This record gives sequence, C-alpha cells and structure tokens, in this order.
Amino acid sequence: MRRWMAIVLAMLVSGLALAVPVTFTYQPPEGLDVRSVSLRGSFNSWGETPMKQNPDGSWSVTLDLDPGEYAYKFFINGQWPKDMCNDETFGHPMVDPKADGCIDDGFGGQNAVRIVAAPVVRKSGPVELGFKHEAGKATFVSEVGEKVSIRFWANEGSVAKASVIVGETAYPMHRQLVFRGTEVWRASVPSGAFSYRFEVEKANGATKRFGPYRYDGKGFKAIPWVAGRAGYQIFPERFWNGDPSNDRAALASDEYNFNQVWQEKDPSFSPQLSPWNGPITPELCCHEYFGGDLAGIEQKIPYLKAQGVSLVYLNPIFESGSAHGYDTHDYMKVSAKFGDKATLRRLIDALHAAGIKVIFDFVPNHTGLGFWAFRDVVEKGPNSPYWNWYFIKKWPFKPGDASAYEAWWGVPSLPKLNTGNPAVRRYLIEVAKYWVGFGFDGVRVDVPTELIAAKDFFKELKAELKKVKPDVYLVGEIWDLRPDWVGGDGFDSLMNYALGRKVLLTYAKGKPQAFANGKRALLGISEFYAKMPEASAAMGFNLIASHDTSRLLTDLGGGKFGDVPGPEAKKREALAFALLFSMPGVPVVWQGDECAFLGEKDPYDKQRYPIQWQDCDQEMAGTYRLLAALRRDLKALASPVIRGYYGKGPLLAFFRGEPGPDELLVVFNNAEKEAVMPLPPGGWQDVLEIRTFRKEVEMPPLSWRYLRKR
Ligand code: CA
Repeated sequence: MRRWMAIVLAMLVSGLALAVPVTFTYQPPEGLDVRSVSLRGSFNSWGETPMKQNPDGSWSVTLDLDPGEYAYKFFINGQWPKDMCNDETFGHPMVDPKADGCIDDGFGGQNAVRIVAAPVVRKSGPVELGFKHEAGKATFVSEVGEKVSIRFWANEGSVAKASVIVGETAYPMHRQLVFRGTEVWRASVPSGAFSYRFEVEKANGATKRFGPYRYDGKGFKAIPWVAGRAGYQIFPERFWNGDPSNDRAALASDEYNFNQVWQEKDPSFSPQLSPWNGPITPELCCHEYFGGDLAGIEQKIPYLKAQGVSLVYLNPIFESGSAHGYDTHDYMKVSAKFGDKATLRRLIDALHAAGIKVIFDFVPNHTGLGFWAFRDVVEKGPNSPYWNWYFIKKWPFKPGDASAYEAWWGVPSLPKLNTGNPAVRRYLIEVAKYWVGFGFDGVRVDVPTELIAAKDFFKELKAELKKVKPDVYLVGEIWDLRPDWVGGDGFDSLMNYALGRKVLLTYAKGKPQAFANGKRALLGISEFYAKMPEASAAMGFNLIASHDTSRLLTDLGGGKFGDVPGPEAKKREALAFALLFSMPGVPVVWQGDECAFLGEKDPYDKQRYPIQWQDCDQEMAGTYRLLAALRRDLKALASPVIRGYYGKGPLLAFFRGEPGPDELLVVFNNAEKEAVMPLPPGGWQDVLEIRTFRKEVEMPPLSWRYLRKR
C-alpha cells in the first residue's frame, strides 16, 4: 500500500501520467439518420466505447486520457468513415472538426488524431534532475566513425551544464534534443575501451556526479559506407524494359499456374502482358506485367549516376508468382522475367563501377505457392520432408485454400514458413549468405516482426552474414519507432516510415496548421533521434513513400493518377525532399517520385504504374540531383548528429553535424506565406546563395535553406 502511494506521489511530483478528461463529440450532418455511434481508437485498443445521444442531436463521450497523441474514428451506424478528414457522408469535410489532424490508417484512409496536452502543474522550486543513463544500451552509447557517442537523459530544464569525463579529459556535453519533458545531452569521445563518468551542473547550481561506467569498445557501430549516400528504390517490373525477349516468362511463372482454387473459380483468367503505357487493370499490383527487368535497370545506370544516386534498394528479383515478387518460388533463381544470374552479375558489377551500392529484398516469413517445398507438401502431405516447414491444418488440400495452412495475413498465395524449425532457418540463412556473397551490399528484410522466433532468427542471420561480409547493411521493414529492433543482434536500421510518414510527411502537408506545424515536427524528430541509437541514425534508411504507399505527390495534394499536379503540391514535394535529405542516414526515394508522378494506393496500387520517362518532371528531378550533390559535398549531412533549434508556427530548424565551425543549420517553412526566423549568433550563409544572414533569416513561402556558419 505504501509502495503504491509512493508511486502515485512520484507521478504527481514528476508531472507525468496525469489523466485529463477529454470529450469527443460527433455532430451528424443535416439529413443523416444516425442510430448508433461509438468511439474506437488507440486509447481503447480500437474496441468499442459507446457514445450517448444528447438532446441537441449530437453524440458524445468523455474519457480520462494520459497526455499523448491518439488516433481514432467514430464508428457510425456500424460503419467506418474511410477518411476522418475528408468525408462526404458523415460530416463534410472533417467528421470531427475538433480533431488536431489526421494520419494514415494503414487501409488507404485516415484516422483522426487528438493531442492531449499535459495539465499545467505549478512547480515550486527547481526541477528534479531525473538523470538516466544505461551503460550497455545503444540508445545511450554507440559508435560512429572513430567516435563514441555518449548521451544521458534528464528532465527538461533541470541541467545547466554537463560534461563526460574519460581519464583526465572532460568533454563538454551539449543539449541535443528535447521532447515531452525530457532532454538529451550528448558528447562524443575517441573510440576505444574506457571508463567514464558524468559531471552535471543542475539549473540551481548544485553539481552532481554519476559513474563510473565502463565501455568495453564493443558497442553498436555504424557501418562507415552508408551515411552521406542518396538512395533510390527500384521495383524491377516497372522501372524499364531492357529486354523484350524475356517478357513472356512472367506468364509462365505466375501464381495462377499454381493456385488451384483460383483456377476453379475463374477458369477464364490469365495473367496479362501489357504495353509499357498500357491500361490500369485491377491486376495492376500483382498480375499485370509490363516487361521491366534487370537489363532495363542496367540501361538506366547513366540516369542513376547523373541523379547522384549512390544506393539502390531493389524490390524482390527472385523467381515468384507476381509482379511484386513477395511470393517467392525459388530463392536461388533470378526470376526469368527479369533475366538470369549472368544478367544480375553484370548489373551488380555495373552499379558498383558507378559507385552505387545495392541491397536486395529478402522475404523469409512466407513463400509463394510455387515454391518447391510447398509443392512437395501439397503432393505428399505428412510424408513430405518439408511438412514441418509450414503450418498445415489439413491434408489433402488445394493450393490457394488458406483454410488449410497458415498464411501471411490470411493471403492464400503466401503460406507462412516455420522459422522455428532449424532446417528452415538454416535454409533461409544459407540463401541470404549466398546472395550477399554474390555481391549485394545489404539486405532489406520483409515483415521481420512476424516471423516465428523472429529475434533468434535475425541474431543468427546477422552473425552469419557478417562472416561473409563484415560491412553488410541490414534493414528491417518495421513501420513504427522500435529501437528494440536495432543494434547489437538486431538491424542496422529499420525502414524509417515512423520518421518519414508520421513526422516529415505531416509537416510537408502543412495543413491543418494546428497539427502540421514546426513545433510538432521538431518534437517528432527529437523523439525519434533521442530513442534511436546514434549509430542507427548514421545508417538510417529514411523514406516517406514506397511501393506500399501512395506516391508522395498524391499524399501532398497533387491529385490522383492522371491528374495534373498544381504548383503548391509540387513545392511541398520539393520541401519534403529537402527535409528528407537533411536527415542523418540515407534518404531513399521511390522510383518516379523524383519525376513528380502521381498515383494513389487505393485502388490497385497505382503508385506501381510503369515509369513513363518521357513525362518525368525535369525540375523535380533536378531537385533530387541538387540535394544528392549537397549530401555528397556537405560533411555535416553525413554526420549522425542532429540538434534541435527551432519549431514555431510554420518554421522548423535544426543543426546538423558536430557542434563547431562545420555545423549546418537547416530551415524550413511549410506555409504559403513568408516567415522570418531568428538566427543563432554569427553569420549564416545559404549554401546555394552568396547571401549571408545575421540575426534573422527570411523564408519565402514553402521554402528550405541549408545555412553554414560564416
Ligand atoms: Ca523484359
């Protein structure tokens, strides 16, 4: 009991976790007959909280919520509004005008977002320090280059000055990032094994010492080749057709040939071969083929080189039953529709000769129906040596009947592999080792969190791949901010959608300003880099859009496939690129986004339409070129260090690079009117202009500047 009281008291003192009553109200539009409304969101695990009808016809409910950010929808008459910020049936345009904004719901629509601010607690006396540092944890200690980055967290406003002491040397620390009442202090010291301690001067003048701690010199280290590059994602079926002679091979390997359920249901179907500018059909995502291949990528290397691309991420290239290739039929064979091993050899060598690293897409969670082990199980049942490679629920069965086996999200074409089985693990790891040995520089892993015994699998995979190539780069497809999946035995980076979509895209949209503003963007960036180890930041695989999302320009209001984007949306896209390219790590742009193409995900994954090169927007392609060149030339952009500076109204700014003369200040304005930002002391020169700014800098509408110290 006393312990419980102590916890409550501690919560009160620290001002954390004080629930706030929040009322949600739904006002139906005139003429809509509403019989039931409930509230479903991240606060109730998307369960149902009924709302009550008020005498004025509105519906409401009040919840006690901890400070934070919540996604939700009203569930009206048993139906979900598809888009809480853009709806014609349930309330136009906002279903809940009190929402602070909207965010992707993962199903092609949007959830509303409500931000619950912490109640103001009047503080008497100085803020408690709340010092936090864990010596063995990569969030606090990791290595980049020949430097060890050392950090601690403290309560916001509690620290005046701090240093980390190694041997006889005191290294001054700087306040790096501030988020949700916490601030991060940081310094870097020469690498090696050493003891260290902290000296922290509190805001009230008292000095506190922490430590000693020990660093064994074997922490999470960044691979040196990743930072400073400009990345590009290629979906081989839709990039360029360099060899029409292999086009028909797509039809022979298509899933339809292996899916008995589908054949019986739709005997008239056949996978389709379309001309490069052919019509969009419902099979666009998966079974409409346009002939793109590896020879096509090779022919476009001069373009990639001219653009300044220095890292390519290839979507799956192995034998499979679809245009996207996530249903592998043979992990050891290059898809015949894309070429063969000799073509791949030539492509990798040519990319390397052009200074471009290349990573492949590895899909260990599931196979396609045409995979030999699965076909053996279909034929022989429990007598197959591969019976335990899958989770078969009944036999005999028809391939394509997902009630007979576990499948990824129940998709019949993707039977789930049993990676808890050592034989499966061994097989998949040997596959990955083979291709890394063949010449790939890294691996992007599909849906890693969904594997059976996932963390054991990736620990073994990483150890084995490092033996083949010590500087192999491992990226996991994880959409959320999950630092527990990087470092040590984990990935070098995740696909940082958590930064790109949640923070950068929201800011670049610029509307509604209450939600898409500089303050919130700075908070999001700060929280991301506070929680991610600095070594992972250095290797960050940063993206806003991909084959799995709408095109960036569509998300920024440029319109749907076939529309003509307006100037504002295009400026927002350039702004989004400038922001993405200013982050630590590698910006990775989805093929064709640099051409300002449009394409909505729903329906039919139109972002995957073949690249119509003759229509590529040269100005936007030039923006990519410029930003890639800046990344190559400005040392600070290859640094993992990011330090918050300003977030107010439409303005967002942060420092890049180690504090000192080489540091850059990058500034953004996401509004359609000019804004002026106060500058730190000294002169600040726009890297693209001769002009040097002092005291303040004017930011034209929808603009960005990279400023260097003069
Ligand atoms: Ca072809």
